[in-house]
Amino acid sequence: MAYDKNNIFAKIIRGEIPCKKVIENDFCVAFYDIAPKAPVHVLVVPKGDYISFDDFATAATPEFMNGFFKSVKEVANKLGLKEGGYRIISNHGKNATQTVFHFHVHIMGGAPLWKM
Ligand code: AMP
Repeated sequence: MAYDKNNIFAKIIRGEIPCKKVIENDFCVAFYDIAPKAPVHVLVVPKGDYISFDDFATAATPEFMNGFFKSVKEVANKLGLKEGGYRIISNHGKNATQTVFHFHVHIMGGAPLWKM
C-alpha cells in the first residue's frame, strides 16, 4: 500500500481540517479523537508520511522516533494522566481494525479502562 497524502490526518497536520489540538511540535500534532472510546482519548500523529507503526519503525530515523515517543509522554503528562494511569495503542492493519492509514498512537485514560 502506498501512503495517501490526502488521508484525514495528513489534512489535519496541514491545517486543512480543524482539530481540537493538545500540542504541536517538530515531531507531531496531538489532538482529541472525534469519537472518544475513553473519557480522555487523544491521538498523537507524527509529521511524516508513515502509513502505520510498521512503516514508522522501518522508515523513521532514531532521532525522529525518539522525539515522537517523548512527545507521546509529554501529551499524557499534559493531560494529567500520569498519576492515574493511561493506555497507549497503535493499530497496524486489518486485524487491528486500523481505519486511518497515517501512523498514530491512541492515548486513553481519565477513568479505569477495560481489562486487556
Ligand atoms: P484507527 O482505527 O486506529 O485507525 O484510529 C482512527 C481514529 O481516528 C478513530 O478513533 C477515529 O475516531 C479517529 N478520527 C477519525 N477522524 C477524525 C478526525 N477528523 N478528528 C479526530 N479523530 C478522528
